Amino acid sequence: MHKAIFLDRDGVLNFEMGEYVTKPENFKVLEFVPSQLKRLTDANFLLIVITNQGGIAKGLYSQSDLAVMHKILTDALLSSGVKLTDIYFCPHHPEFSKCICRKPGSLMIEKALAKYHIDPKQSFMIGDKERDIAAATAAGVKGLLIEPNINWNFLVDEILK
Ligand SMILES: [Mg+2]
Ligand SMILES: [Zn+2]
Repeated sequence: MHKAIFLDRDGVLNFEMGEYVTKPENFKVLEFVPSQLKRLTDANFLLIVITNQGGIAKGLYSQSDLAVMHKILTDALLSSGVKLTDIYFCPHHPEFSKCICRKPGSLMIEKALAKYHIDPKQSFMIGDKERDIAAATAAGVKGLLIEPNINWNFLVDEILK
């Protein structure tokens, strides 16, 4: 069994602007992120992003815009020797359609647990909203709640202790 760190995206990996990130030029990877993810990689954690992207359902950006933003993220990490195992996103929004993947639903996490043979009990989710923690808890993963955009190195200290 593997162990994993599940990561919310906005406010955890990239700057939370308080509105949807619709353009690649507004997608800013937080400066401490590559080094903190490197520490987790070196401790054999898989790194999996779990993100609600309801702006797609709203027509604010497309899946290809999202792919460009995620390339910015993966490139920033690769230069530090960090590889994300996967990125799961929910493109739906309840104003337009019901779905079973959007957080606080746990389906995205559960899919990753199954696909990558991850033990939820050895895994954590870092998020900046209660719904991130609710999704983690429902999947049997310990949720760690932070304020958006803060350096969460203290959580890594705690996880690696
Ligand atoms: Mg967030
Ligand atoms: Zn969904």
